[in-house]
Amino acid sequence: MSEKSKATDKKLKQAIDARMAIEDARKYQVDTLSNLSAKLSLSCKGLDTELDNRLAKFRNALTKGVSFEYLSPLITEIITLLKNQESVQLAQQRDLYASVLNAGKQLQKIIGLPDDTRRSLRNLLDNEINNIQSTHDFLPLLNQLITFYHHALNSKLNSGSNDQSTATPALAQELLELANALVLEDEAAEEIKIIKNKITKSDTMSALLDAAINIISVIVKNINKERESAQSFLASLNQTLEELHNSIVSTSKHSQSMGLEFDTLNKNIKDKIKNLNEKTQNATSISSLKELVDNELKSLSKDFIAKEQLERADREVLVSSFDKINSRIGTLENKLTKYKKRLNEQRFKSLLDSLTKLPNRAAFDERYNHEIHLFNVQASDVTLVVIDVDHFKSINDRFGHTAGDITLQVIAKALQKSVRKSDFIARYGGEEFVLLMTDMTIENAAVPLDKLRKAIKSIPFKFRDKQIEITISLGATQFRKGDTPIIAFDRADDALYEAKNTGRDRLCMSK
Ligand code: GH3
Ligand code: MG
Ligand code: MG
Repeated sequence: MSEKSKATDKKLKQAIDARMAIEDARKYQVDTLSNLSAKLSLSCKGLDTELDNRLAKFRNALTKGVSFEYLSPLITEIITLLKNQESVQLAQQRDLYASVLNAGKQLQKIIGLPDDTRRSLRNLLDNEINNIQSTHDFLPLLNQLITFYHHALNSKLNSGSNDQSTATPALAQELLELANALVLEDEAAEEIKIIKNKITKSDTMSALLDAAINIISVIVKNINKERESAQSFLASLNQTLEELHNSIVSTSKHSQSMGLEFDTLNKNIKDKIKNLNEKTQNATSISSLKELVDNELKSLSKDFIAKEQLERADREVLVSSFDKINSRIGTLENKLTKYKKRLNEQRFKSLLDSLTKLPNRAAFDERYNHEIHLFNVQASDVTLVVIDVDHFKSINDRFGHTAGDITLQVIAKALQKSVRKSDFIARYGGEEFVLLMTDMTIENAAVPLDKLRKAIKSIPFKFRDKQIEITISLGATQFRKGDTPIIAFDRADDALYEAKNTGRDRLCMSK
């Protein structure tokens, strides 16, 4: 092989290598897009079936190696659907806004509303409510609160009394339980704690109404916070998709124009080789042949260099647009992880009591109904225990609400520590706890339950240098054939009532 054809061979080999590098870059890009779309599908699942379908199609197209020209309209559709998702949120916001505003306006109309209450209500309606943009877990609570607020106002108006009229303890208790059901963190949790404190200390109707308004206000602020985080996630999802779209459009445009140049170059090379072939056949002398080959190879070599440069430029465009997409995907992934974590925490927290960190009433109801159902399918020994702290109100009255809260936390921890791993203990509400003991007859439960009672009694509580003994009363029953959740619970509750009426600090059993 001559030096010249060796050089041509080398150029050809280089051109092939460069092409392969481009193919690799494209494959990497497609893999990453595939990956992104799979993650998007997961995160958007359930938002909108149409969106789910489009994302599945997108992923499918990617894995099949469909060209970018085909993907581009799909991405446009996905972006449109995501934008629709935003307008769905906006519509929900309008509904929510209308219902809260309506309830608030009705409240404003009521004659005899205390000045302070009227002022906080006006502030709520004029400022805080304006930005609500999404429905939220707190919505049922908000509704409940507004209904409760109506109740309170009605009873106040019916009694024809003034702002200083005495609030019924039942109303205060109801409001307190509502506040307990709120799952909030940080600043909002602190605010609720202060409000709860005020509720236990106050016995006037107007103070209670104020507390209700304040709780509504905390809820509204929280809804806004949640909305912001959901919206910022949707917005960055949109932005990334749009960038992806632009980048794909420009890459494919670039590829098209590159394709034209490649074609021209290839045609040139082919023509020249054909030309060379013809000419060499017609050459009459070695020296003229040598000169001919020399010239043609020089010109061919120039074409190869041009081709290589084109390919390098193509590769650079691909790599740089790919880098941009990649870094956007990275940011999006981070946001997605954070957002998911928040949602999971929220879901998890809504089954936990915020004060004691024990499962709450909702978690208990779920488990309790499940156990009753299991029992009715396949009878086993299940004992249900209702536990109530004795004279707990006096702890609040003597040492304050915060001391009361800490006491509940200590008791909850001790209860949790004293039961078996297989037992299920929850805070039922206020100073009441419930315990489900599976594979335990009521006869066998007597000893451990009495131990539990003594364990609480022996906690060395100390308030303002005073040693205080706190006791609990327990009512227990075993599931019976034909029990419904209410029947079994009433039996345990009756046993607790008996324990309270026969001197407290004891266990009574309904056998
Ligand atoms: P008894 O022995 O009859 O059960 O008397 P008691 O005082 O424990 O019962 P009562 O039902 O009269 O009072 C319960 C009190 O528990 C009233 C309420 O202020 C208080 N309470 C309920 N939830 C909480 C809470 O989350 N924190 C605090 N500090 N107190 C609470
Ligand atoms: Mg009680
Ligand atoms: Mg009690």
